[in-house]
Amino acid sequence: MGALLLGREEWVAMPELGLPAVLAKTDTGARTSALHATAIEQFGPIKKPLVRFIVQPWPERPEVEIVCAAPLVQRRDVTSSFGEVELRPIIRTTLNIGARTREIEVSLTNRETLRYRMLLGRQALEDAQIDPAQSCLQTPLSYDVYAKAAREAVWRPLRLALLTQDKGNYSCRRLIEAAERAGHVIEALETRKCVLSMKDARPDILYEGKALPRFDAVIPRVGANITAYGCAVLRHFAMTGAYCLNGAEAIATSRDKLCAHQILARAGLPTPATASASASSAAEELIAAVGGAPVVVKLLQASQGRGVVLAETEAAARSVISAFQDLDATFLVQEFIAEAGGADTRIIVLGGKVIAAMRRQAKLGDFRSNLHRGGVAEAVRPGREVREIALRAARLMDLGFAGVDVLISNKGPLVLEVNSSPGLQGIEKTTGVDIAAAVISQIEHRLQPALARKKPTTVL
Ligand code: ADP
Ligand code: MG
Repeated sequence: MGALLLGREEWVAMPELGLPAVLAKTDTGARTSALHATAIEQFGPIKKPLVRFIVQPWPERPEVEIVCAAPLVQRRDVTSSFGEVELRPIIRTTLNIGARTREIEVSLTNRETLRYRMLLGRQALEDAQIDPAQSCLQTPLSYDVYAKAAREAVWRPLRLALLTQDKGNYSCRRLIEAAERAGHVIEALETRKCVLSMKDARPDILYEGKALPRFDAVIPRVGANITAYGCAVLRHFAMTGAYCLNGAEAIATSRDKLCAHQILARAGLPTPATASASASSAAEELIAAVGGAPVVVKLLQASQGRGVVLAETEAAARSVISAFQDLDATFLVQEFIAEAGGADTRIIVLGGKVIAAMRRQAKLGDFRSNLHRGGVAEAVRPGREVREIALRAARLMDLGFAGVDVLISNKGPLVLEVNSSPGLQGIEKTTGVDIAAAVISQIEHRLQPALARKKPTTVL
């Protein structure tokens, strides 16, 4: 190939950045190319960092904003044509000029006041011969592509928040990985570090002394020990316009085992017979209400099998109940489904679809199948009836992402509970389904429906 003939300005494209047309100035005085960018932020793993930034490629139409993401090569002092030294992020991307394609490094800087959104430096012009007297010697492009793109919805990296108290746990690590693999910015925020402010009707969330920027979506992983505050934080996020994978109200409702039971039962979903009363009520009445011993007594806010007790005899049941009453604990009494044999089915529902399921079996001597209690699991494909019950339960709770537990009784499947932060480790290891990736693609589907429709999630 001979020399590439270029004028003082040329149309270029950077497909990896979603920029099909930029009019750039050729400048052999500079080594590295420069691109106009704002809202530049680093994200991703420290060892392989990425940057997200906004480009307004069209000088006359600054409202056309393209959100880009690219690998960060380094940050380097760059001297501008005005002689100012600025520490700029340098990214790597593919550049097309005419019929040629090359990998170039580009520094990101605010060029708002400059005539050209991009400057092509020597590294990008390696085999080019420049005639400054001419302009646009290569195939001319047009900014019109953005007018069309704006209507068609352009893929853009989303800014996601993972709300958690334990960002190092398996589920959080997997969600962070999945979001970054899909090219999004994700930040793990510790629930307790969020300071909520309401001033002049404006909801702000302060974090480590700074106001948080706007997030496109929030993935809540609110622990059972911090449900109330976690939901308050989530309400604040919702007020800033962020999409919450599970809403505050849905989480609060599903966490309260009694409230959840009321909602499921009144909609006619099969559940174990359940009774509850204020602390002073007679134990006998509660036990009788669910058909007598054996019964299961559950603390309302328990999780991972903690606070779930099997009382095999009437006497045992009375003493457990009176012990809970003495502690002023809120609890419910439930018919014990002995024939389940310590097994239940955990069904993962995402966006109104069943995406994975496993059968969990309690360890010998226990009736609780929770994996945290030493239960073991195997992948299953539940029958239609069970799948439908699980879908209805998640919908009734208004949870976009849920782990529904179903017990198989002699009378058929019964919904035991609906978890709003189902753990990913057990279900992913058991079924091999990439739940984390499915969660991210569900969020994409909600926020960028035109694009997400092209890659459907597998449904069980
Ligand atoms: P947690 O929120 O702590 O997981 P659950 O209500 O899900 O509380 O109960 C934990 C486990 O105990 C269930 O997964 C199930 O194996 C067993 N279990 C709970 N309730 C009953 C019941 N009524 N009959 C039989 N087994 C039950
Ligand atoms: Mg459970």
